[in-house]
Amino acid sequence: MSEFPHFTAPLDLGFTQLRNRLVMGSMHTNLEELGDWDRVAEFYAARVRGGAGLMVTGGMSPNAEGGVFQGAAGLFTDQDIKNHQHVTERVHDAGGQIAMQILHAGRYAYSPHCVAPSAIKSPISPFTPKEMTEEEILKQIRDIATAGARARDAGYDGIELMGSEGYLINQFLVTHTNKRTDAWGGSYENRMRFAIEALRAVRAAVGDDFIIIFRLSMIDLIPEGSSFDEVLTLAKAVEAEGATILNTGIGWHEARIPTIATSVPRAAFAWVTQQVKEHVSLPVMTSNRINTPEVAEEVLASGAADLISMARPMLADPEFMRKTLDGRAKLITPCIACNQACLDHTFSGKTSSCLVNPRAAFETKIPMIQAATSRSIAVVGAGPAGLYAAFTAKQRGHDVTLYDASARIGGQLNIAAQIPGKEEFKGFLDWLEATRTQLGIDTRLGTRATAEDLAHHDAVIVATGVTPRRPDIDGIDHPKVVSYLDVLRRNVEVGRKVAVIGAGGIGFDTAQFLVHPVDHSTDLDHWLEFWGIANPKDHRGGIDPAGPMPSSPAREVTLLQRSGRKVGAGLGKTTGWIHRKELQMMGVRMMGGVNYHRIDDEGLHISLGEEVRDAQVLCVDHVVICAGQLSYDPLSDALSQMGIETHVIGGAFEAGELDAKRAIDQAVRLAVTL
Ligand code: FAD
Ligand code: NAP
Ligand code: SF4
Repeated sequence: MSEFPHFTAPLDLGFTQLRNRLVMGSMHTNLEELGDWDRVAEFYAARVRGGAGLMVTGGMSPNAEGGVFQGAAGLFTDQDIKNHQHVTERVHDAGGQIAMQILHAGRYAYSPHCVAPSAIKSPISPFTPKEMTEEEILKQIRDIATAGARARDAGYDGIELMGSEGYLINQFLVTHTNKRTDAWGGSYENRMRFAIEALRAVRAAVGDDFIIIFRLSMIDLIPEGSSFDEVLTLAKAVEAEGATILNTGIGWHEARIPTIATSVPRAAFAWVTQQVKEHVSLPVMTSNRINTPEVAEEVLASGAADLISMARPMLADPEFMRKTLDGRAKLITPCIACNQACLDHTFSGKTSSCLVNPRAAFETKIPMIQAATSRSIAVVGAGPAGLYAAFTAKQRGHDVTLYDASARIGGQLNIAAQIPGKEEFKGFLDWLEATRTQLGIDTRLGTRATAEDLAHHDAVIVATGVTPRRPDIDGIDHPKVVSYLDVLRRNVEVGRKVAVIGAGGIGFDTAQFLVHPVDHSTDLDHWLEFWGIANPKDHRGGIDPAGPMPSSPAREVTLLQRSGRKVGAGLGKTTGWIHRKELQMMGVRMMGGVNYHRIDDEGLHISLGEEVRDAQVLCVDHVVICAGQLSYDPLSDALSQMGIETHVIGGAFEAGELDAKRAIDQAVRLAVTL
């Protein structure tokens, strides 16, 4: 019997069957917009071969005004249908099923031509939408139905109607965005009319033997969001209109509460799905921060849902279900919910990929082919760069020896894993170790190899990382001064008042570490309280009127930078606001435009601005230096002089703007060429 009997069980939908309970959730990867349909087809086919029960494409607009941005992919023309057929054929040949998501962005469309129920601008868009006339509303419904019919013509097995995350259908549902006084606004019956008419029109257009998933916002996480009764009314109406599956939407994009970031506890919103599922009979799907078969099984076994939607985990490992079925769950590459290579790319107009799997959406661009000749390759440094280089080279048939000076693999990821809210890095480290063991890589820990020690290898990859920068500030050797390494490795007892010099990713993480007590809670109830999330049964939209309830900070922290731009401006596009808000809630003072004068017994002496005003002393117990890093490469010069083929990657190659995403991507791209 399967180790995960609920997760791996098939699901009978009457006219068709899903082979298991894993549905790949919709993701806008920007792949379709590239026009390379072979690449799009391979992206999905790889995930069918990896065992997904059903997949949902990225959102396809039903018309020009509904696209998330001008020129966003849709299904408007006969050529579009042919392009999509390429995908559906490849998916069916591989034995899978795929549904196309129909997404009308409404006021979220990044375009001056956007439309909405009322002319109210969203806080995350520069454009005020046009309030639609009744005729224009009916046109949207016709276009949505036509998109459904075209999806069927293109060979899809179904569609998903996007009714959540604050897109058009959601905008009709709540008074926050719908101020209409005609048949499409006012009472809830009127506000849900658009959702129901659109669903009815799609069902009429596609016939009965076609999957329709309705994604319903079960907790809006915005003021004036839907009440629980309204959510239930809609869920029951959706069922009555013949939807095949009810999917869970959590939070609008403009909500200032994190819903998928790494600090969100796993399966944090399964309870929201569960309390809706109790009132309907059609299969219900849950989503958000479910990234292991263990968690998926637990959610399904508890009765909270019938299906699990995983989106980003399917970027991280296309073989998620295959490994689950084969008893190789420990070898599933875990999505760490960082957003760094997926959503941050999507929202920067780049093609999405994955930090832990740079081949995601690049399957045809970074091919894994067996090496023509097996060579002896040494990799020095077992941080993310070195490990991925070693794994890829070994998988291609090379004989790999991995050296690290430290007693454990993982490099700086071991330090990242200490940060409250970054617990996912521990799972990533476990996976790195499991993969190293499974590949049987000859590993020499506690070994600082010299160039002479490495001379017998055919090639050497230097991945020795970085050293912290020590800024030239008067008093830098004062006993109050410590480095982030001392703090995060718990080598020093840090006092109650702390100044952090440097507000990059590590400065923010160190501040986060310092304001939390050692035994900080990772409990779901505590997290919900921290962010002010209520049960929609008690408060509309799931917003607690009492607001967020942060715990009291363990220390008084001031986070400083020299640059005058907003503190934290360089953090991740989709997660920076969360880091800033968390620290603000924990009382961290942030200062930009700072001049550092000296550190002495009194504390840190600073002034502000180019004109050097507001001279002051921060009377702190410790000054923690997080002022960036410098490359550390003790080997490549000597190796090159000895005529040994040498490659330098990761932090050892370039420390500026280094992160694990770049280190891993560089490592894989190198190792596929050796
Ligand atoms: P490292 O991880 O530094 O690894 C280098 C390895 O080389 C080490 O294991 C070291 O022991 C070994 N070594 C050094 N010299 C020798 C020698 N002479 N012989 C043998 N071995 C040697 N990045 C992100 O993308 N997202 C994040 O959220 C994130 N959070 C972070 C949080 C913190 C607190 C920190 C410190 C870093 C974080 N990073 C994050 C950055 C990320 O960890 C680094 O960019 C990444 O680890 C760099 O990889 P690397 O392999 O080049 O170097
Ligand atoms: P960083 O992002 O480059 O930030 C360094 C900070 O130090 C900046 O605030 C900089 O601001 C300051 N600084 C630089 N030189 C200085 C000097 N000589 N004196 C005083 N201050 C100085 O580097 P990091 O914080 O060390 O992070 C390293 C890498 O890890 C980053 O590239 C980051 O991407 C990655 N990381 C990512 C995450 C994540 O969540 N994605 C988390 C942690 C780390 P001023 O010059 O304005 O003072
Ligand atoms: Fe998950 Fe990060 Fe990969 Fe996105 S980039 S899929 S969040 S691991």
